[in-house]
Amino acid sequence: MDVQAAPAFLLRAGEGKKLYFGGAELSVIASPEQTNELLEIVEVYASGTFTFPAHLHRHTHKGIYVLSGELLLSFKDKTYHLKKGDYGHIPRGVAHTYRTIEPNTRLLCLTGPGGVVSLYTQLSINQSFQMEPLYEVPDQVDFELVESFTPAQHIQEVENMDRPDGTKPYVIRNGGGEHFVVEDQLFSFLARQNNTDGQFLVLMTDGPKGNAIIQHYHKRHTECFYCLEGSMTMWNEGQAVALNPRDFLHIPANTKHTYRLDSPNTKFIGFLTPGLFEPFFDALGTPYYSHQVPTKPGPARIDRVLKNYDKLDLYFVSPPPDGSMHPIQAAMVSFSFWLSGKLTAKK
Ligand code: FE
Repeated sequence: MDVQAAPAFLLRAGEGKKLYFGGAELSVIASPEQTNELLEIVEVYASGTFTFPAHLHRHTHKGIYVLSGELLLSFKDKTYHLKKGDYGHIPRGVAHTYRTIEPNTRLLCLTGPGGVVSLYTQLSINQSFQMEPLYEVPDQVDFELVESFTPAQHIQEVENMDRPDGTKPYVIRNGGGEHFVVEDQLFSFLARQNNTDGQFLVLMTDGPKGNAIIQHYHKRHTECFYCLEGSMTMWNEGQAVALNPRDFLHIPANTKHTYRLDSPNTKFIGFLTPGLFEPFFDALGTPYYSHQVPTKPGPARIDRVLKNYDKLDLYFVSPPPDGSMHPIQAAMVSFSFWLSGKLTAKK
């Protein structure tokens, strides 16, 4: 079934509705209203120490990416010291708490519906009306306070570089993840479907200045792009949008898009929901066992993408609007035209 799409939207760094809670400033990056209740993203900013009490989310898995500063993320058996670029993964039903420990700490929180935006919206209302108990929220907010929780006292530095399998809590150090090379770009899964019960994928893309990819759209999933370093151009229905660090673009289903990296070291985080597009990356990419961006371009397995095209939530449209296209991408378009009978038959 096709996903009912909310409109695409762009949010520049620092923009977004502001909520205030417990001394932190929360910027709404993507709300349920903006995304047809598919996802929720906030930036949490704390100029000083901000502690969020132990709680769990009954339904949504959650990803935390540290944009700046440092925090302690605690589970019952582990407390991790996260720094810039580190990722923390919190499955549904797992009690956790966090505390920022450096001034000017900023986090990106990625969840499904009922998650962080719904929660902080309600808590900021509770606080401004001095409601008691402060942490009481309606049922539609996916939140449960965990009263009897003692965070693990021993603090562990984040050393893990690998993405584990399964719905368990984990952390990944800056630069880690499950890597795939595609030409000169390094794709790194921070969370796959088996970590999120298929709810979403968290995918890092690193690469040098390059060419745009083929314009395409998806019917059954939404893609969110959050620029971390460098600069990039995206095209949303043919319109160019420059993205710089902390700029965010929401591309819902049935929206034609493409991207191009414009600076030598560009990095963006992709949040794709639901996670059904995962097989595309397995088809296109080649597993890569170094944490460095490849110095020599690797393959792009267009052949495997075309072979599986019928099964992928991927619809090619045309070459990118800027006319730049890597020869392999050009071959992809040629192939797609050659296969046009097959392509138009695709439902
Ligand atoms: Fe896409």
